[in-house]
Amino acid sequence: MNVLILGAGQLARMMALAAKPLNINVLAYDVGSEQVVDPLNLTQSFGDLNAGIELADNITAEFEHIAHDVLAICEASGKLQPNSQAIKTGGDRRLEKQLLEQQQVANAKHQIIESKADFDQALATLSLPLILKSALAGYDGKGQWRLKSLEQADDIWTDIEGFFAGGEQGVKHAVVAEQMVPFDREVSLVGMRDTQGNTKVYPLVENHHTNGVLTVTVAIENNEALQQQAQAMFDNVANALNYVGVLAIEFFQVGDQLLVNEIAPRVHNSGHWTQQGADTCQFENHIRAVAGLPLGSGNLVRPTAMINILGEDTVPNAILSVPSVSLHWYGKGKRPGRKMGHINVSASSNTELAERLSEVAEMLPSTAFADIQAYAKGLIGKL
Ligand code: ATP
Ligand code: MG
Repeated sequence: MNVLILGAGQLARMMALAAKPLNINVLAYDVGSEQVVDPLNLTQSFGDLNAGIELADNITAEFEHIAHDVLAICEASGKLQPNSQAIKTGGDRRLEKQLLEQQQVANAKHQIIESKADFDQALATLSLPLILKSALAGYDGKGQWRLKSLEQADDIWTDIEGFFAGGEQGVKHAVVAEQMVPFDREVSLVGMRDTQGNTKVYPLVENHHTNGVLTVTVAIENNEALQQQAQAMFDNVANALNYVGVLAIEFFQVGDQLLVNEIAPRVHNSGHWTQQGADTCQFENHIRAVAGLPLGSGNLVRPTAMINILGEDTVPNAILSVPSVSLHWYGKGKRPGRKMGHINVSASSNTELAERLSEVAEMLPSTAFADIQAYAKGLIGKL
């Protein structure tokens, strides 16, 4: 059986590795070169998109910013899971917010901005500070603004107007203004829905960001009430989208309440720990779902944490001498800040996990991992 993945990055690679023991072969469509390749050997080509669709029994995606004409061709083949509307919703904050409103799922107070009148309305109805985010993928590093005081409004509007004018021709850009949420922490839920509509979820995990980028995820058993709350929102969203595959939801936790930040219609960085901490990892479960197979359990097998390796192509080999540590490289060229690999650290108790995570963090160069060392140390005595 062949599964074609739209996108040929590390997520496709890890799905290919997880699919092999099931005798499922994964091909990947590289949207840059427009070639279908082996995700474990990007130089090996199998032809263009049409050739890939022909070879595939099922088609899926590793990211949400895929050209709509590509999605349409794949959907017309009858092989695409999740459906194109679900993928588009994850790639457009306007659609995402509309879905959350329609399903009455708690999220940050917001306003969609397509004109100056919308911008003025956002300033009049939302309380500052605001975070403004491009609805579609940003381009050239543009597409996020933080508005703390009204004095910044004119400058930010001039910038947004410029943003609307640039970018891809024929694409109507918009910005979503959100009230800043004074969250206690950021958490996420990765779950999956099969072709029959059954859902399963992994435990809600805590995410630590450094300069706005995920650096550490910690998966331990949770408070049952919070887990239930997250799972109810997951079922609501996944059922509304008639979703098939792995779907991730990022939340802000404020007290005992979860507010959805964003939805990712794919396997997610905050689910990489499942390779060592769950019976069936998110990559295998996504492949199982799109191939029409029964889902594997999302239960936590042992407390596990993940450390992202950003912009580095080596780490000290000594980390492998620490028990229950696994290293996953993506085989990518080194670039500052680029996601190059990750380290999973597992333990038999929460206390042991905190200590082991800190031990590993201390072995990593403090230049690239400084903030992780402090975060890991802070977990000792807390988990
Ligand atoms: P990702 O890489 O996860 O796709 P992104 O750039 O698409 O990130 P968001 O996840 O929306 O954008 O925002 C990035 C980070 O900014 C969040 O993880 C959070 O720390 C902060 N943030 C975003 N929106 C808000 C908000 N409304 N209130 C407070 N903090 C926010
Ligand atoms: Mg995010």
